[in-house]
Amino acid sequence: MRLPPGIDQETFAKAIQEFANTVGHDWVFTSEEDVALYDDSYTPFVGEPDRAYVASAAVAPDSVEQVQQIVRIANKYRIPLYPISTGRNLGYGGSSPTYSGSVILDLKRMNRVVEVNDQEAYAVVEPGVSFFDLYRYFEENNHQLMVSTPEPGWGSPMGNGLDHGMGGVAGDNFSMVNGMEVVLPSGELLRTGMGAVPTSGLWQNYRGFGPYIDGLFSQANFGIVTKIGFWFVRKPEVQTSFVVTSFNSDDLYPMVDAIQRLRHDGFLYSAMAGSPIRSSNNNFDGQLSRHDPEVKALLDRRDGGSPEAWNQLGRKRNLPVSMVSGGMRGPARIVDAAIEHARDVFSKIQGTIFQAREPFRFPLNVDQIDQGQRSFVGIPNLWAFSRIAVQGTSRGHYYFSPIIRATAKDIFEANLVIRGVLLDSGDTDLLDRFGWGTGLSLPKAYMMLYEFLVTDDVALNRKRREIFKQLAQACAARGWAEYRSAPAFQDIVMAQYSYNNNALRRFHETIKDALDPNGILAPGKSGIWPKRLRST
Ligand code: ADP
Repeated sequence: MRLPPGIDQETFAKAIQEFANTVGHDWVFTSEEDVALYDDSYTPFVGEPDRAYVASAAVAPDSVEQVQQIVRIANKYRIPLYPISTGRNLGYGGSSPTYSGSVILDLKRMNRVVEVNDQEAYAVVEPGVSFFDLYRYFEENNHQLMVSTPEPGWGSPMGNGLDHGMGGVAGDNFSMVNGMEVVLPSGELLRTGMGAVPTSGLWQNYRGFGPYIDGLFSQANFGIVTKIGFWFVRKPEVQTSFVVTSFNSDDLYPMVDAIQRLRHDGFLYSAMAGSPIRSSNNNFDGQLSRHDPEVKALLDRRDGGSPEAWNQLGRKRNLPVSMVSGGMRGPARIVDAAIEHARDVFSKIQGTIFQAREPFRFPLNVDQIDQGQRSFVGIPNLWAFSRIAVQGTSRGHYYFSPIIRATAKDIFEANLVIRGVLLDSGDTDLLDRFGWGTGLSLPKAYMMLYEFLVTDDVALNRKRREIFKQLAQACAARGWAEYRSAPAFQDIVMAQYSYNNNALRRFHETIKDALDPNGILAPGKSGIWPKRLRST
């Protein structure tokens, strides 16, 4: 059996016994076979003899009191715990702990929908409620709220929200969080915001008084969240989107400015920007750029190919060179007017082509909605990962996902910097796979999403982990950095947030030491180490 570092067999056995006394023997897992289920199935360490990021055991409570008791036992024996909700954070580490030998605190048995308030459009859920569960619950009980599910939808609103996951309805799901119940590393129970007023029924309505601390529990190791409130988007009459294209590369500059202006002014709930002909993943003809030798030749140039060369190739292939798109929802009359307004705005950029897409009308006829479109209207599915599998990733993938400014300038520059690192690395497979990144919608920034493939070749996986580091550093030198990452890369990512001699990390670690003096909760998560385990 694997042991937590520094813990002897006897001490560990005692802790396990006390966990079992708390939750029942059936809910403590110590066999190699059971614990292996908590490995990251997409680990970039596949085939390596002393793999990191693996657990020693798992314990699955079914109540807040049991969570509190487990935390007390962990403190008594100095056992590191790693909380997960449903543990499906694939691409960002799955259910694997940052600190090897941690005991997974598996919260999926706590799966109640605690409250749904239709009038005020919020709900409160426990960790084990999956996007599928919540969707079914809303549908069966006729709640008119949309679930902001990512692709795929097998994870949980809580786990996804806490890790700043993106959902098709609300974008950054953490932006919809309001009010939490948290078991602190001491075992004490905390409610945030108005939830701290004992008689308050306004827990999900307002953030309360004093420092706003919900954020301290996202991507963090300061507490175990046992209930979380989300605000929801109500089902609209109509949801639709439009796409604007151009055969001119330089048009991307005014096009992104225009789409972002519409977003800031509140007409759009999402926006994105890219280049269909350059992108490896476009909606226009389903072709991948890496299969087109002329596209590839231009992309692989150090200067990214001149605008004129792209314009020419775009015309030859009849594929747009520049593209932005935006999403809107609401009453049909208002959406129609907003579409007309957007059409007007883009008509001022000569040569652009504006196309309104076919709207979704509620109530939806689910069977008629394409798999790839479902998450945009709040219907969880598993299509996305099967698509990646079809593209040949038998071992899985992990993401490199930097945040850039929402401008065409940054999209061009980020692609040049990222492709430059890959060209230097000589990893042509990865270079082809990365293609040319699209800017994905955040309210005032774009997220770029690149997939690193895991292979059976240990040396190649090692090299790719090194490339990840080089990319993180090259991006940070330009002011861009990752918004989220798998445990294997969290130290590297946090190291880029280094302003004033790592003041941010030191702030986190001061809080960590105060709340968790024994360093038992998710040590190392997001690069935040407890005192006993840090080198500086
Ligand atoms: P999902 O349920 O969406 O699959 P995970 O369970 O994989 O999400 O969790 C995603 C991340 O959030 C992990 O890093 C995990 O440690 C953290 N996390 C998940 N649930 C909790 C929780 N209840 N309290 C604190 N951190 C959590």
